[in-house]
Amino acid sequence: PVVTRFAPSPTGYLHVGGARTALFNWLFARGRGGKFLLRIEDTDRARSTPEATAAILKGLEWLGLDWDGEPVSQFAGKDRHAEVAHKMLENGTAYRCFSTTDELAAWREANPRQPFISPWRDAADLPDAPFAIRLKAPRSGETVIEDQVQGTVRVANDQLDDMVLLRSDGTPTYMLAVVVDDHDMGVTHVIRGDDHLTNTARQIQIYDAMGWDCPVFAHIPLIHGEDGKKLSKRHGAVGLHEFAALGYPPAAMRNYLARLGWSHGDDELFDDAQALEWFGLEGIGRAPARLDFKKLEHVSGHHLGAMPDEAALAALQHYLAETGAPALTDTQRGRILAAMPALKDKARTLPALLDQARFAMIDRPVQPDDKAARALDTVSRGMLKSLTAAVQNASWSRDDLEEAAQKVASENGVGLGKIAGPLRAALAGTSTTPSVFDMMTALGREETLARLQDQTD
Ligand code: GLU
Repeated sequence: PVVTRFAPSPTGYLHVGGARTALFNWLFARGRGGKFLLRIEDTDRARSTPEATAAILKGLEWLGLDWDGEPVSQFAGKDRHAEVAHKMLENGTAYRCFSTTDELAAWREANPRQPFISPWRDAADLPDAPFAIRLKAPRSGETVIEDQVQGTVRVANDQLDDMVLLRSDGTPTYMLAVVVDDHDMGVTHVIRGDDHLTNTARQIQIYDAMGWDCPVFAHIPLIHGEDGKKLSKRHGAVGLHEFAALGYPPAAMRNYLARLGWSHGDDELFDDAQALEWFGLEGIGRAPARLDFKKLEHVSGHHLGAMPDEAALAALQHYLAETGAPALTDTQRGRILAAMPALKDKARTLPALLDQARFAMIDRPVQPDDKAARALDTVSRGMLKSLTAAVQNASWSRDDLEEAAQKVASENGVGLGKIAGPLRAALAGTSTTPSVFDMMTALGREETLARLQDQTD
């Protein structure tokens, strides 16, 4: 069975690149009936914070990526990491190194860019002093990574030093902890950013030293900005929370992120079921993907439009709650839901949807903005009065309302647009709205007539 993991370091927010890595691992595992695990790599005590862990969990939850079991704390496994380092001492694949920091610094200065080989590697007489445990790495031959994305990568062993596994204060190094944890958690596939590729040769040496099977490795190219440079704040949003704040629905984000570096033919727009069925390591490209906000917007519009009305309303309410806005009332919810087909059609993001839905959220009397106020001139108000009379007792269907408005316009010798403008102004007080007839049906007879009266009395 497939087991993947996402292993973020809790030192900040969840980066969109990290979110993409998590998504790939989630898709790969879930599409194969496997497990997706979460490991918080909190061994760097100075930089790791509980707030960062919370932000990462919140980001994954928002994106809809569920993990199996409890999140694993890497720091909590430090005794197990030390135990493995001592096992390696016993089986002769590691040794005690008594070199001090000063000695190491001096050696490095005398041998720039040389991999450090400790004088203690083959020493027989050992002092009674603090020591680090170092890997007795092979000095000849090569370590080969059979990477599912990068292909075969060969590293000459004489380029790699005898890395520290356990520091003299008893704490494990990152390299040891990752290998022990991936082994103990039964991870079968390691899918991560290609910034970790150089670490992989070292990690394979640890697997070999312990006689453990290596997982399958897949190193995915990092995400770049539209200009082809490594993604940074300069390009706009980089934290997943920023994308959430921009109002892209999670389903759209999953679709868009899946396409960042992975492809399935020409398919651009797909749902989770399709992504789970299609996703595989063979579809991951070797060139860095570019974050393209225009494309994201397009994908977002597609998903928003495809959402059931209730789901779109729920997404909108979630978005509102995140901005700290008061919860919608039942009346507001009812109106928005009634207008939802029209709203979804026009908006590509949740804030755009919200803009369109304002007419359903405001209270009487509507306060027209400057442009709307100008649309409500004497002639227009006269037409609105006629319309009010015409629809007072008419059926409240969209078609009948439109017919009534058309009739009033003809009687006044103008086109429909000439009455739609003031109507829009009276009902919404602004020009960013769905069609006037969608607003009228969503607001209902009573509220519509009251809003018209407010502006014509
Ligand atoms: N903690 C590492 C990072 O956040 C990931 C290590 C890994 O995936 O093996 O970059």
